[in-house]
Amino acid sequence: MEALVEEKAPRYIKMFGLCPCERCAADVKALTLTNLQPAYIVRRRAEAHAMLTVYESRYNSTIFAQLTRACKIVMDSPRHDRESSLL
Ligand SMILES: [Zn+2]
Repeated sequence: MEALVEEKAPRYIKMFGLCPCERCAADVKALTLTNLQPAYIVRRRAEAHAMLTVYESRYNSTIFAQLTRACKIVMDSPRHDRESSLL
């Protein structure tokens, strides 16, 4: 799940015209993962790769929804220049 978010987050950040700095990108990923249930835990890399495709198609819409939500939250209150709590 984390790998999928890592892979997709930069695209969404661009798509939403979000600040591309590391802090904002990290916040988007963290917020997204917080809302996704880690339903599947991968033990081996070979397995991980095979499962990723299945997992991706199954959870694509969920990841999309959570990434969209995370982007909007970060866009409304970016933390790169202040330390106030996001949540
Ligand atoms: Zn930023």
